[in-house]
Amino acid sequence: MKIAIASGKGGTGKTIVSTSISMSVNNAVYVDMDVEEPNGAIFIKPEISREIRYTVPIPEFYEDKCIYCRKCEESCVYNAISIIPQAKKILFFEELCHSCGVCKYVCPVEQAIIEKPKAIGTIRIGEKNGLKFIDGILDVGIPSSVPLLSGMKKYIPNDEIVIIDSPPGASCPVVEVVKDSDFVLLVTEPTPFGLNDLDIALDIVKDMEKPHAIIVNKSENNNNLAREFAEKRGEYIAMEIPFDRKIAENYSKGIPLLTEEYKIRFKKLVEDIREGKL
Ligand code: SF4
Ligand code: SF4
Repeated sequence: MKIAIASGKGGTGKTIVSTSISMSVNNAVYVDMDVEEPNGAIFIKPEISREIRYTVPIPEFYEDKCIYCRKCEESCVYNAISIIPQAKKILFFEELCHSCGVCKYVCPVEQAIIEKPKAIGTIRIGEKNGLKFIDGILDVGIPSSVPLLSGMKKYIPNDEIVIIDSPPGASCPVVEVVKDSDFVLLVTEPTPFGLNDLDIALDIVKDMEKPHAIIVNKSENNNNLAREFAEKRGEYIAMEIPFDRKIAENYSKGIPLLTEEYKIRFKKLVEDIREGKL
């Protein structure tokens, strides 16, 4: 059972919710796929036992072998190659390359294109009191996190409960994470900005036909925006976490929500998901 904790807007409390759930249930695996800003380790404080530099193949062009047929340029849907036959020049825009391998496949000349590995980030594996921990750290300057996210999946064990801290937003990285999840918990805050982004994230999750529910963080009794929103869209709020100074202070110190009350609530939430009650 893979449960993705997602949100439209960043800063809604996705990480405190996902780390707290992971630490509340037994034999879980916590996977931090928010690779541009992974901070689950601040809450879990794992012992890291393994660090893997993750690489993707990118082409290297050899102008002395190239016959300037332009087949690679025409085949690259990401416009990462520009061939100038008159000047016998190959321009390669590495940051646009998606490592698809098509250019090498279509090139008629052996050795005109050779693939070489390019490091794009680090995957760390660790443990804390029986909780398995995996996170990914995207290198600075790497334009897309999707290859690293897809590489991280190879290291996710098939344990009973896998809690995935998804990237924020509503674009390719979220889709990459959510597509392999069995259930999505969308964490929001009851503000117009939070709900606007939740609206977009909900569209994605529904398009992908993923079972899902909402968690409202920083909830206030007199603030009905999130409840009104959920009612209007026919969505279910599985949990509300109050706007509480103590929680915020603990959050700033990297302390998850692990009071007895919350442990029981998070365990029950996971049980309900597993039993198909949500
Ligand atoms: S590997 Fe794919 S994306 Fe990269 S340059 Fe070649 S065809 Fe373009
Ligand atoms: S397909 Fe190969 S030979 Fe043709 S332009 Fe590209 S690198 Fe050169």
